[in-house]
Amino acid sequence: MISFEKLYSMGHEEVVFFSEPSCGLKAIVAIHDTTLGPALGGTRMWPYSSEAEAVEDVLRLSRGMTYKAAVSGLNLGGGKAVIIGDPKKDKSEALFRAYGRFIESLNGRYISAEDVNISVEDIDHVYTETNYVCGVDKASGGSGNPAPYTALGTFRGMEAGATKLWGSRSLENKVVAIQGVGSVGLELGKLLNNAGARILFTDINEDNIKRMKEAVPHAEFVDANAIYDTKMDIYAPCALGATINDDTIGKLQCKLVNGAANNQLKEDRHGEELKERGILYSPDYLINAGGLMNVSIEFEGWNDAKSRRMVDTIYDTTLKIYKISEEQNIAVNKAADVLAENRLESMRKIQTTYLGRGSDHRFPGTKIRHNKL
Ligand code: NAD
Repeated sequence: MISFEKLYSMGHEEVVFFSEPSCGLKAIVAIHDTTLGPALGGTRMWPYSSEAEAVEDVLRLSRGMTYKAAVSGLNLGGGKAVIIGDPKKDKSEALFRAYGRFIESLNGRYISAEDVNISVEDIDHVYTETNYVCGVDKASGGSGNPAPYTALGTFRGMEAGATKLWGSRSLENKVVAIQGVGSVGLELGKLLNNAGARILFTDINEDNIKRMKEAVPHAEFVDANAIYDTKMDIYAPCALGATINDDTIGKLQCKLVNGAANNQLKEDRHGEELKERGILYSPDYLINAGGLMNVSIEFEGWNDAKSRRMVDTIYDTTLKIYKISEEQNIAVNKAADVLAENRLESMRKIQTTYLGRGSDHRFPGTKIRHNKL
């Protein structure tokens, strides 16, 4: 369960439990690090088998958000929230509005958004009670579905990989295998098709397979079990995490692993092993940060062009991380951590200067700008 020792070891600032028995709300908000700005991260609803499991998940996910924001050049901290409950049975307007009131009570230290099992409609209920939420409906002034921006960032990462491996960012005639053609995979498929890539794809959902065939008729379907044994230039995991593991790594016949899925490496050592096998890896938490970048500008007024310009920077940052990996002879996943930690460390140091205006300048309504790294 939770202990101060655990919070110290993972670097968390604050963990808050919220409950409202009248509507069955049981929520945990974890604020990992606000060095760079307010802690932004989605809320996940899940029928956790125990409170300890929910705590474990929210601590791990919120820490990941600190790194993602830091490496993406965002002036945001890392946070995440979980609601313990069955999304099929336990959702109600009261539950999300009660949750919104609790978020409001944090005064902007935490900003929420969608995550697993939380829809735009759910977030709109939260938004009724607090402005500290993003990913709201376009009709309410939000940025809508983040998937096209996540896909664009993944595509920019892939172009950086092509530059490093083949000396040109063009993906023309490269064989790319997309594992999972859901919201992000489908959009990535469209971008690759426009870029002249040869697309292989797999999925286990018949509707999504059909949708992909309609959107990208040239794409070739591969059975889900055969994907790791298929010859390809680029493997793009866009379904599940941990697909780079002891069972799959020896089968991979690609030169680049570059997808949108979170936590693609089962363990950190698999990043090292990819390096030893001569397979380039684009850091997952950077190249899938397009969705986060997109929602982050809702506070200063979202528009598509601004969002795309920000997501385009993923190309340069990916190249920068490959360079750190090469110069320091460390795996790419470690190099991404180095870039994130260096930024956090240097920003912590400058916060010793007294500005005489409290700490509000770090919170919404003022500046959540993006910095090119
Ligand atoms: P999604 O649920 O819309 O799509 C996932 C797809 O993967 C589905 O079509 C599903 O059928 C398929 N799938 C599941 N198991 C599979 C298997 N064993 N083999 C092949 N296909 C399988 O999810 P999404 O929003 O497209 O996100 C995809 C990944 O990207 C996830 O890991 C998610 O955490 C990550 N991600 C998404 C976003 C975003 O903006 N949506 C942002 C950052 C990261």
